[in-house]
Amino acid sequence: MIRTEHNGISWYSFESLRDPAIVQGTFTRHGGVSQAPFGTLNVGSTVGDDPAAVQANHARLFSAWNIPAERVVTVQQVHGNRVAVASEQDGGRIFPETDALISQIPGLYLLLRFADCVPVFLYAPRQRAVGLTHAGWKGTLQEIAMQTVRAMTATFGCQPGELVAGIGPSIGPCCLEMDGDVLADFRARYGQEEGCIVRPQANGKAFVDLWRINALQLQAAGVQQIETAGICTSCRRDEFFSHRAENGKTGRFAALIGITAKA
Ligand SMILES: [Zn+2]
Repeated sequence: MIRTEHNGISWYSFESLRDPAIVQGTFTRHGGVSQAPFGTLNVGSTVGDDPAAVQANHARLFSAWNIPAERVVTVQQVHGNRVAVASEQDGGRIFPETDALISQIPGLYLLLRFADCVPVFLYAPRQRAVGLTHAGWKGTLQEIAMQTVRAMTATFGCQPGELVAGIGPSIGPCCLEMDGDVLADFRARYGQEEGCIVRPQANGKAFVDLWRINALQLQAAGVQQIETAGICTSCRRDEFFSHRAENGKTGRFAALIGITAKA
């Protein structure tokens, strides 16, 4: 991952997705105006932060990338597996009950919000198409990363083998301890796969590797080039918001991808 800073706003981008035809980044929690526990670049409007601060944070973020707010497309995330296609007229739109966006429109930017859930970035260089997925544990169990690849294939004619994928900063297998029915669901689906459920504890709990499970889903969909950031949001609260590590009282950081207007 490459960390870039501009006017106090900082973001991480994938080396393997570097291409003048696109911009992509996972923003840190720094450079905004929100107060604790949302300090400081919170883009979540449903977490209890001052709406004026959230709006100012968006403006700072868009300014750092020099993108107009009316060209940003976002969603109301519900931990489901619905994928929406963002078209020319969707600039400024908020898609209801959607957890992934795909687009082929130059100068249109896809924005999703995170605090432990897994951002999956997708880029098809030949078709010049992009995708962004919000995969928490619920979305991962619903195979949303795989659904996003399928949507790009069906909508833009991408070959899955041509796609480049990035698995962004999110809670890692070091910190995602699970138990009960949810762990049982993960065991039933991925218990036979190496490295997905790790470090079983005497009390029946175990750690789940959402990075690896999402990578397996991408591979199953035919994606071969996958870069995993390997940055755990729970370990790196100095850079990112972590819903789990901050007991639910925290902000959301932004992930963005878009096709540049020129290039
Ligand atoms: Zn961790």
